[in-house]
Amino acid sequence: MGQHESSPGTLAERTVESLAKYITNGKPKKIVVMTGAGISTSAGIPDFRSPDTGLYANLARLNLPYAEAVFDISYFRQNPEPFYTLAHELYPGKFRPTITHSFIRLLHEKGLLLMHFTQNIDCLDREAGVPGDKIVEAHGSFARQSCIDCSRPYPQDELKRHVDAKSIPRCDHCKGLVKPEIVFFGEQLPAEFFKNKWLPSQADLCIVMGTSLTVHPFASLPSMVREHRPRLLINKERVGGIGSGPDDVLLLGDCDAGVRKLAAACGWLDELEKLWAKTAPSAAAEFKRRQEELWDKDEALEDEIDKLTKEVDETLNLSKWHEERVRNEKLPRECSGVARATAKALEPNLSRLYEDKIRNGSSPRESSDGANPGEAPRGRHEDAGGNLDHVFVSKNRDVASSDTPVVQQHTEGKRKDES
Ligand SMILES: [Zn+2]
Repeated sequence: MGQHESSPGTLAERTVESLAKYITNGKPKKIVVMTGAGISTSAGIPDFRSPDTGLYANLARLNLPYAEAVFDISYFRQNPEPFYTLAHELYPGKFRPTITHSFIRLLHEKGLLLMHFTQNIDCLDREAGVPGDKIVEAHGSFARQSCIDCSRPYPQDELKRHVDAKSIPRCDHCKGLVKPEIVFFGEQLPAEFFKNKWLPSQADLCIVMGTSLTVHPFASLPSMVREHRPRLLINKERVGGIGSGPDDVLLLGDCDAGVRKLAAACGWLDELEKLWAKTAPSAAAEFKRRQEELWDKDEALEDEIDKLTKEVDETLNLSKWHEERVRNEKLPRECSGVARATAKALEPNLSRLYEDKIRNGSSPRESSDGANPGEAPRGRHEDAGGNLDHVFVSKNRDVASSDTPVVQQHTEGKRKDES
């Protein structure tokens, strides 16, 4: 789309009310919706591209060479475990669709949805009741899975069983690795995307929600909508040049709030809320989910404690060995401070667990010549054997150099503003 005159052509005004009138007058028959991560954040889908989430902390423990390796097909071939750890967290069924997902279903029920293009892999649109043939998952999703060698499809329930058990599924036919059909770095976008990407040119209304529109070729979809066909952007900020067209409408802010505003203007709000209410999990399902969540947390904590116990034990043994040497050979005394330095450096709650153990293991000679047995030496350790890096696993490991957002690697170039 090029430069546009400022007065609208199709809409009376570039407002939500005017757009709602256009919709309810029955003008649009083919609505194309384009969405990104922003429509799923209120569902609680963890932002796995952010290094600050617990998810990344978990991945860091799995010795990833770099954060994005989890979605790298050649790394997956070597080590599929980090991906399946992530899959365990993200697998559909753990999150409730948002009212924005239900709005897309409402458009379908009213016979208005031509296609929903999404960058999301979470399947929440499917869970909200949007049929699979009305969805183009541009970056793939958890909806299907297949062998990465012979491409044979793999049964969904089998995959779910493996994801739940945190085990790695293998192809029944060739024993190759099985992977959900999420687009990894080094893989093509799904054929469905290329087969359907012309559809926006047929649309009489385009609704873009919760996407920064920076990842190509997805980002170019809104520019295929023909002139004088309205485009609505519901997003935290203006993106993709939307707003410069004569019939562009902006609803800046939260997606769910924007969708409610549009539905209210159309007189559909009650219907939408009822539709969304159907996606609420039953009390029993919610109880089960919470139990599983607690169980996972317990397991993770137990793993961490086991690991630290082992490390502290190893250090204590080393310390005892040093003490023997100090006693017998009069080696420099600072060597024996290692165990207490270790305990001090551990997370406060975990170090408390080990405090007694550490005290028992420390040298009586040290306490007698002035050092407080409960206090670790300050500053740099005089640990001739190393800097205790092995102890500070979660702190020292470069928690993934994730300056580059994951799917960004598909970026072919910067979007051009149309204005
Ligand atoms: Zn196979």
